[in-house]
Amino acid sequence: MELSGENGASMTDKHDADLVEVVQSAGWLARMRAPLGAAFGAAGNVLAPSLCLACHNRTSTHDALCAGCWQQVAFITPPLCHRLGLPLPFGGEGLQISAAAAADPPPYDRARAAAVFDGVIREIIHGFKYADRHEARRLLARWMAGAGRELLADADVIVPVPMTRWRLMRRQFNQAALLAREISRLSGVPFDPFIVAKTKSTPTQVGSSAAQRAANVAGAFAVRRSARDRVAGRHVVIVDDVITTGATVGACARALRAAGAAHIDVLAAAIVADPRRVDL
Ligand SMILES: [Zn+2]
Repeated sequence: MELSGENGASMTDKHDADLVEVVQSAGWLARMRAPLGAAFGAAGNVLAPSLCLACHNRTSTHDALCAGCWQQVAFITPPLCHRLGLPLPFGGEGLQISAAAAADPPPYDRARAAAVFDGVIREIIHGFKYADRHEARRLLARWMAGAGRELLADADVIVPVPMTRWRLMRRQFNQAALLAREISRLSGVPFDPFIVAKTKSTPTQVGSSAAQRAANVAGAFAVRRSARDRVAGRHVVIVDDVITTGATVGACARALRAAGAAHIDVLAAAIVADPRRVDL
């Protein structure tokens, strides 16, 4: 990659491009280690049995859940809060805004998630995030593309919540980026992982309160100088695996807003219905 100053690709971009190659190679290796079905695509349908992504019992199709597990997923359907994407107990005329969103509006315009973070989807996401079970990404991305249809219809670009380079090197993949790339493939909206950078390491959010989470991630994200013209006036969709308190995606949204994004939406696989009760 050509290196240049303010208006072109920076050293950071160059390093990240190298890192993406590392990560993609790692993904390739992971696929080689995975069952034949994942490695050989359609041919694998013949060679390997399809298993439920949650309970691992036999299913009729790949990248799916069995009927029993499917029934345990709390998919989010209307009525829902137009801003936070959380299910509402009852509907009404026009756009519905929850009391929580009215009292404390989020720094993004709209959030949508496929399901409430609980039970089966919690297990799938944990497996995806911590146990290298990447086969879940296709199912989650399909659900997300469905839940975010309205958002994606207006979007110019899809941006994953980034990790610091150190974290990415250690984990070898960014689950938000894997989901974002798959959603881009399904929706046709361009995917750009080089717009937002995580500029400081943050402590684990597990067990933190909403206020602590917000303080941890404040100022942790920035739009790269070389990417500002790809953000100004644009409709951006931020992708993450789970929205817990909204602190992380909120911090990304603030960085995008500061860089001139016209409209910022958030799309996640799951959302925590009551962040006070979660220990993610
Ligand atoms: Zn199952």
